[in-house]
Amino acid sequence: MSSTETRQYWEDMAQALAIEGRAFIDGEYSDATGGKTFECRSPVDGRLLADVSACDAADADRAVLSARTAFESGRWALMAPAERKQIMIRFADLIDAHREELALLETLDMGKPIGDSLRVDIPNAARALRWSGEAVDKIYDELAPVPHNEIGMITREPVGVVVAIVPWNFPLLMASWKLGPALAAGNSVILKPSEKSPLTAIRVAQLAIEAGIPAGVFNVLPGFGHEVGSALALHMDVDTLVFTGSTGVAKQLMVYAGQSNMKRVWLEAGGKSPNIIFADAPDLKRAAKVAASAIAFNQGEVCTAASRLLVEASIKDQFIDLVIDALKRWQPGHPLDPGSRVGAIVDESQMQRVLDYIEKGQQEGANLRLGGNRVDAESGGYFVEPTLFDGVNNAMQIAQEEIFGPVLSVIAFESPEEAVQIANDSDYGLAAAVWTSDISKAHRTAKALRTGMVWINHYDGGDMTAPFGGYKQSGNGRDKSLHAFEKYTEVKATWIAL
Ligand code: NAD
Repeated sequence: MSSTETRQYWEDMAQALAIEGRAFIDGEYSDATGGKTFECRSPVDGRLLADVSACDAADADRAVLSARTAFESGRWALMAPAERKQIMIRFADLIDAHREELALLETLDMGKPIGDSLRVDIPNAARALRWSGEAVDKIYDELAPVPHNEIGMITREPVGVVVAIVPWNFPLLMASWKLGPALAAGNSVILKPSEKSPLTAIRVAQLAIEAGIPAGVFNVLPGFGHEVGSALALHMDVDTLVFTGSTGVAKQLMVYAGQSNMKRVWLEAGGKSPNIIFADAPDLKRAAKVAASAIAFNQGEVCTAASRLLVEASIKDQFIDLVIDALKRWQPGHPLDPGSRVGAIVDESQMQRVLDYIEKGQQEGANLRLGGNRVDAESGGYFVEPTLFDGVNNAMQIAQEEIFGPVLSVIAFESPEEAVQIANDSDYGLAAAVWTSDISKAHRTAKALRTGMVWINHYDGGDMTAPFGGYKQSGNGRDKSLHAFEKYTEVKATWIAL
C-alpha cells in the first residue's frame, strides 16, 4: 500500500498544512481593503481551515485596475503565442507537482473524497491549462474571399479583462476550464471563487507567478455572499464575464451586464439531465451501474448529474432493482479515507436543501425506495445516503428542479416519442444519455434531444477535446475544446485596398 492510500497520511498532511486565505492582487497576496475576513470551515468535520479575505467593491476596483494595466502593457497579451504556451505548460506542471497539497485542500474545503480530488479534479485542472496552452500556437486567423484588389483579414484578439465567477462543486477544475483559454488567448483574468471553496484558487495564484505569468494577469478575489461578485459583474472596465453556477445567478449576471457596460456574458448553469434506458439497452447491468454513479459521484453535486432516470415501462421494475443494488455501493465515507467513493455535502444549508427535496418528493406522492436520510451526523460532517424515488411524474418538483445531491427520480415511458417528450420537458438542456442497441433509434433520439451534450450507451464522457455546455436555461457558449476560445477573443475584420 502506498502512503497516499491511508487516511492517516492525509490527516498528518492536513495537520501540517499552512493555508493561505488572502486575496491575490497584482502579483501578491493581500488582505481585503476593509480588512474583513470570513471563516472557511470544512464540511468534513466543521474544523476551521482559514480566515479568508472578504473582498468588496474597493478590492474589485484594485483588481480590475491591476488587470487592465497588465493587459495594456502588452507584457502578456502581446507575447508570442509560443511563449505563452510554454508558461501555461509550466503552470500546469506546477499544479501537477503540487497535486497532493491541492487535492487535500479541495477535499477539506468542499468535502469530496480525496481519491477523486487526487485522480479527477487536480489532474484534469492541469490538463485544461496544458491543453489550452498547447492549442494557442496552432490557431490561425482567416482571410476573407474579397475582390482581387483588396485583402480582407479576419483576426482574433484577446478581449481584455475577463472576470471568471465559479462554483464550489469542482472548484479548481471549473476555474481551469475558464483560466486555460482565457489566459492562453492573452487576457488578464480576475477569478472569483465560491465562498464555499476558495482555497485552491488562492493557492494556485502563487503557482501562476512561479510559472512566469506576469503580475496583474491573474488575480483571485474571494468574498462572502454576492458583494464582490456583483461589484465585478457591474464593473464598467470588465470586458467579459464568464460564469459557472446556478441558473438564478446566471440570469442576474445578464441583468448586471445590461445595467453596466454590456460586457460579454457567458454562462454555464444548472441541469436536470435525463438518462434514457430503452428495453434493448446492450447490457442492463452495466447501464444500471452507470446510472448509479451518474447520480452518486461527487455526492450528486454535478451539473450533469443524471437526476432523471427515464426507463421503458416493460423493464422498469427489473432495472430499478439493478440500480438499487449498484447505489448501495455508493454510501458516504470519511472524505480523507482513500477508500471512500462519496464524501460530505458542501455545507449544512446544501444538505438541508437536499433533505427538503427528499421530504417534498414524499409529499408529492413519489415512492421512496432507497435512502432518504442524513447519516454519520455525530462526525460533525454533512453526509446524505444515496436516495431513489420510483413512481415519479415529470411535473413533480423533484423532477423539474435541480437538487444538487444524490437523489434519483425514476420516470417510466412507453415509446421513444414519449421518452423524448419527457426528456425535453425541462427548463434545462445541459446533457442527456440514451441506452439502446438500435443504432437508428439511438441517433433519432439523440437528434431530438434539446441538450448540449448527448451520450449513447455511456454517461459523462468527454475531456478537453469536446465542448461542454447547454441549451435553454443551462447556459450559452461552451467551455473546453477550441470552441472555448470564442468566448475569450473578439473578431476583427481589417480591409486593405491594394
Ligand atoms: P451559485 O450560482 O450559487 O454560485 C456560483 C458563483 O456565483 C459563486 O462564486 C457565488 O459566490 C457567485 N454569486 C452568487 N451570487 C452572485 C451575484 N449576485 N453576483 C455575482 N456573483 C454571485 O452556484 P453554486 O451553488 O456555487 O454551484 C452550483 C450550481 O452550479 C448548480 O446549479 C450547478 O448546476 C452549476 N454548475 C454548472 C456547471 C456547468 O458547466 N453547466 C458546472 C458546475 C456547476
